[in-house]
Amino acid sequence: MTSPGAGRFAPSPSADLHLGNLRTAVLAWLFARSTGRRFLMRVEDLDDRTHTDIADRQLADLAAIGVTWDGPATRQIDHPDRYDAVVDGLAARGLLFECYCSRRDIAQAPRAPHAPEGAYPGTCRDLTAAERAQRCADTGRPPALRLRTDTTTATVHDLLHGDYTGLVDDFVVRRGDGVPAYNLAVVVDDAEAGIDQVVRGDDLLPSSPRQAYLARLLGHPVPVYAHVPLVLNADGARLAKRDGAVTLAEIGVERALRLIADSLGYTAATVDGMLDEFDPARLPRSPWVYLPG
Ligand code: GLU
Ligand code: ZN
Repeated sequence: MTSPGAGRFAPSPSADLHLGNLRTAVLAWLFARSTGRRFLMRVEDLDDRTHTDIADRQLADLAAIGVTWDGPATRQIDHPDRYDAVVDGLAARGLLFECYCSRRDIAQAPRAPHAPEGAYPGTCRDLTAAERAQRCADTGRPPALRLRTDTTTATVHDLLHGDYTGLVDDFVVRRGDGVPAYNLAVVVDDAEAGIDQVVRGDDLLPSSPRQAYLARLLGHPVPVYAHVPLVLNADGARLAKRDGAVTLAEIGVERALRLIADSLGYTAATVDGMLDEFDPARLPRSPWVYLPG
């Protein structure tokens, strides 16, 4: 018998969770629990290590709406060596190169006629040692590290989007300031935890081909994905805290659960009740527009 896999929720502690985040967390929990998986909680604080208070509130809010997780929540800052080891391994395989480009350099770089939109233009891919030294002196900042990829696209399987093919460029694995890039950290952390089901907002769908490519490169299984629709505000923009009446502190547990249940078409307004009604085939495929009040 193989051990059950795991799903997860991985909030960044940049702001209190709003209704959209809470709904995504509930969906991730429903997908995991309905398939007999464990459910893990990971605070993605590599980039935001100062906001322990926000992380604590996020976890308290998730617990308050009935989302449960197995074992203690993990925090990325507790194991920085994990990412360094993977970056070192990729470097030893000759798969990384130093990139001195600013965002602006990348936006303004000349592109090959058929270069995919949004792809890194390859400026630093084949610099000589002398050219690297020169660019280092010119920019006066340490380089980012990019992955030398051998493709331009990859296909992932998504439970809601079917087979999704998207861009794989020479993406950053470690930023110039030394912080592991999100695309690297997420792959390494998911693999380390045995996560085989990734449910998250569909704003991250375009990142999933890069992550699947890196997972394969590192010899990890690629998880099954479900990218769920975001919640929008009255203007059709992604719901944000400034929209008001969106956090648990503002609307309360009972109303939040009722709103989430209504948005998903469930009669039960508890996560356990929603679990009984959960059917991935019947999930709404379009964004939910939330109008407070
Ligand atoms: N930490 C990311 C966020 O809060 C989610 C990353 C993921 O689920 O892969 O947007
Ligand atoms: Zn570059």
